[in-house]
This record gives sequence, C-alpha cells and structure tokens, in this order.
Amino acid sequence: MLGFSLQSPTYMYLFKKITDLRRYLDLQKQAGKTIGFVPTMGALHAGHAALIRQSVSETNCTVCSIFVNPTQFNEAADLAKYPRTPEKDIDLLLQAGCTVLFMPDVSEVYPEGQLAPLKLDFGYLDQPMEGTHRPGHFAGVAQVVKRLLDIVQPDQLFMGQKDYQQFAIVQQMLALTKLPVRLTMCTTVRETDGLAMSSRNQRLSSEQRALAPLIFQTLREAKANMHTEWPEALKKAARKALSVEGMEPEYFEIVDGKTLLPVDIFEDHETVVACTAVRLGDVRLIDNLVMKT
Ligand code: AMP
Repeated sequence: MLGFSLQSPTYMYLFKKITDLRRYLDLQKQAGKTIGFVPTMGALHAGHAALIRQSVSETNCTVCSIFVNPTQFNEAADLAKYPRTPEKDIDLLLQAGCTVLFMPDVSEVYPEGQLAPLKLDFGYLDQPMEGTHRPGHFAGVAQVVKRLLDIVQPDQLFMGQKDYQQFAIVQQMLALTKLPVRLTMCTTVRETDGLAMSSRNQRLSSEQRALAPLIFQTLREAKANMHTEWPEALKKAARKALSVEGMEPEYFEIVDGKTLLPVDIFEDHETVVACTAVRLGDVRLIDNLVMKT
C-alpha cells in the first residue's frame, strides 16, 4: 500500500501480481462494490486523470493498469522510446482518487512468452487509418485489453475518444467475446492551444511543440467548412494544411463514426468523424474530431 505524502490526499494499493490483485478485487466484489477499469501505458497526463476521475465518480473501486504492451508496437524503436515516469504516475493517480494501480511485468501478462494474438474478425474496423499505417497494432491492442479484462473483471471500462479507432475495436471485441463490461467513452482532454494531450508530446522538441497545435486547428477547419465543401475537398485541403516544414500528415480521413467507412456525402451518415495522424520527426501523433452526431 502506498502511504500519504504531502501532495497525495489519499492512499492507493499497488499490485504487481495477478493473484494479489484478484484477492483484493474478489473482496471488493463480495462487499458489493462495482469495479471501474482504466488501462494505460503510463506517462500519465491530465487526459488519463480525467478517465480516472470519471471512473471514480461512476464506480466504487477504480483500477488503473500501467503496462507498456509490447505486442501493440509495430516499431521496436517506438516501444523502446515510449516514456516511462512511474513516480509521477503514482502521484497523479493518488490525486485523481484511484484505488488500485496494477503494474505487471510482461511475464505476468504473457506467461511463458504466450504472445499469440486473439483471432477476432473486426471486419473493416481494423483496416483503415491506424490499421493501414500500423500493421498488427490492433491485434495487439485487442489481445492486451482482453487479457487485462480477464484479469481485472471490471463492471465498467473507461477509454478515451482520443484513440477513436481503438475505441471502436474494443467495442467490437466486447461484442464478439460477449464480455459483460460496460464501455464508456471519455472526451479528449487538450492543452490550452488545442493539442490533444498525449504521452508522446513530451518527446517533441520546442519547435515541434510549437507546430503541433496545427493538428487540431486543421480538424476544426474541416468541421467549420463541412456545410460548404465536399468531404473529398476538405480532406485534400487538410492534408495540404498539415504538409508544412517539420510536419508530415500520414492520413487525414473523414469517416462514418460507427463503421469507419469513408464518407462521400455527409447527409448519408448519422455520425461522422475526422481522424488524422501526423509525424513530427520521429514522433507520431493522432487526433480526431466528431463532425456530426
Ligand atoms: P495510453 O496510455 O496512451 O494507452 O492511453 C490510455 C487511455 O487514455 C486510452 O483509453 C486513451 O484513449 C486515453 N487517453 C489518452 N490521451 C487522452 C486524452 N488527451 N484525453 C482523453 N483520454 C485520453
């Protein structure tokens, strides 16, 4: 158990082993408590804190996991460079009112090197955007979220809109596996200049950080012009706007909010989302904006 500190208004349990976590959570369940779960890869920021707070307000016991999942990284360098800030993370979680931090080693999550992916058919959901640019990424995401759900057995799962396609994949995974978990989407938390908070932001140089708000500006511009321009023209304009020195767009797509199929005519779709990924040097950032609900 982690004790009080000057900044920390409360306490939190830290488990590294599944058996210890389960022993604690079984007692909570027996006492009639509902369990909320927020899976993360650490290097926590205010976006993660918002997820924790939402879980704290809607459930009796909030579990956050910090696990940098090797199976969802398609570039070894990206995995190696992923920021790790455990002490800061613990402080943030205490401040946000988290009850349990689960921080397993890779061998605990994937015993004896069992890294076999889940064989699930996501239809078109894992094909476009991140699916095209990060082959194997969603197989890894589905695998680790399923594994963590089997371990934590929460009533409610909280995930960010920031990773819109990931949310759609997890939603589909829950439907296919019939896991009795309620999935809640939490709105994207942004810096004051609009940049979506991300653990990767801390790897930006000051020049890159100054450029990065262009991502959200471009998404907003597309939304502002949706009543006068076709999606195709908006995408073209957005890709051009993001192609500035030091920044390279990987994709800018306007898709159906449920199927993720490309949108040709706004009126044909109930929900529409603009999604983008850009590279600033070796840092890759993603963001999205709901254009129509
Ligand atoms: P990560 O640690 O990046 O895997 O993210 C863990 C969870 O936090 C995911 O559900 C993300 O969608 C969510 N998240 C990340 N950044 C933000 C943000 N800026 N606002 C809201 N949620 C976020």
